[in-house]
Amino acid sequence: MSYAKVLSVGLTGVTGHLVEVEADLSPGLPAVVLSGLPDTALNEARDRVRAAIVNSGQRWPSRRITVNLLPAGMRKTGSAFDLAIAVVLLGGAGELPLAAFDEVAIFGELGLDGTVRPVRGALPMVAAAAEAGISRVVVPLGNATEAAVVPGVEVKAVDTLHRLVAFVRDGVPLLDPPEGGPEAEPEGPDLAEVAGQALGRRAIEVAAAGAHHVALLGPPGAGKTMLAERLPSILPELDDEAALAVTALHSIAGVLPPGGRLRRRPPFQAPHHTATVQALVGGGSGLARPGAVSLSHHGVLFLDEAAEFAGRALDALRQPLETGRILLRRADGATEYPARFQLVLAANPCPCAKPSGDQFCECSPQARRRYIGRISGPLLDRIDVQVTLDPLGAAELMAPESRSEPSAVVADRVLKARAAASARWSEHGWRTNADVPGAALRRPPWRLPAADLKALRMRLDHGSLSARGFDRILRLAWTIADLDGRHRPDGDDVLEATQLRTGIAP
Ligand SMILES: [Zn+2]
Repeated sequence: MSYAKVLSVGLTGVTGHLVEVEADLSPGLPAVVLSGLPDTALNEARDRVRAAIVNSGQRWPSRRITVNLLPAGMRKTGSAFDLAIAVVLLGGAGELPLAAFDEVAIFGELGLDGTVRPVRGALPMVAAAAEAGISRVVVPLGNATEAAVVPGVEVKAVDTLHRLVAFVRDGVPLLDPPEGGPEAEPEGPDLAEVAGQALGRRAIEVAAAGAHHVALLGPPGAGKTMLAERLPSILPELDDEAALAVTALHSIAGVLPPGGRLRRRPPFQAPHHTATVQALVGGGSGLARPGAVSLSHHGVLFLDEAAEFAGRALDALRQPLETGRILLRRADGATEYPARFQLVLAANPCPCAKPSGDQFCECSPQARRRYIGRISGPLLDRIDVQVTLDPLGAAELMAPESRSEPSAVVADRVLKARAAASARWSEHGWRTNADVPGAALRRPPWRLPAADLKALRMRLDHGSLSARGFDRILRLAWTIADLDGRHRPDGDDVLEATQLRTGIAP
């Protein structure tokens, strides 16, 4: 009987876990048994590993082979265990001494010809290995730059199984990660490019400062998309923890740009209104792919033409909006990914999408209400900033660009406002004004003087303002005061806050 063991890494959601891959080879009828809760992909691994070993010029052990992946209770998905299985088989058969792989984590997918292919999720896998005290990893060459982002881990890469065998037998060196390009993260579009549109600019500045969700209504050409695309440019950069979480999710989705580095800019996702529910929330076989809600984690999810999205697509946003996470239930088990995004909805005020003004749009008031009604209800309840933008006038379009404030200046105000809010709320467990429950703002010590709320109370009594709308205005008033560097909102802040949520229904 012969036995061998190597370390690999598996993923549960974004969390990696060390996995022991062990092989036992005993005399008997040649057969391969995989155990440790393998899914379909793992069973396919058996065929890939056999072909890769033979096509790399190695002998396939003609014995009874048991491969076991521990811990047995953890669900294992994907093809990333191929390389470790091949290594442990050759080790167990006495073909390959494995002393060089003590305390080394190995992963990679094998092609039938013995090439080692990159896998999705390499970054969180290496991060998990590092956290478990592993300081050396062997990864596919295609994952090496991404793996090298994790501090404190020596990354070696392989392009073929043959190279790994040659390393152990003959000391042929493994590959180093390719030099990551020194180019900085590309700058997104800048607010300086947006002419005029004072209300829209103010809406996204307030949204950024208080982490409020935003709905932008208005006819085509009102600049809704331009404004939404520039929200990330005024949000604070991601801190280390957020940057790692965001980069890990993009790694699992397989959408990290080459050159592998931590993402510092808040991500921006703009799924089309024909996007499937799966594209929005994630899913798929094997290692579940994060959807737009997770790819915009710590960033912005922009739904243009929001009223055109299928009802069930919009409904699917409710869970992540409430919990900041998305649970994907599938036949082979559930996967959970983080999904805490800032939502920006844009919509035309009516179904015909023609410029406003009586001579163009002939939609009835009922048709307009019905159209916007598609996105109302629970979704709209969570959106603090709701404004209707006018089409850009010729005067605004022709205004010299120098009049538009660049993103960096706005981002500076946003950062200070966020710091003020965080200092005020942190002892209560809230980070931003958007986190604060309405009830807290209606009670001392945060209740505003009655005189400042007089107009709001009247609207509340007349039914032209809902209780939720009242709370939204209070939250926005605090953000406006924070942006202005004042400790408490005054009557003018309440007035402006009211203007920032007059877009849709009471
Ligand atoms: Zn119309």
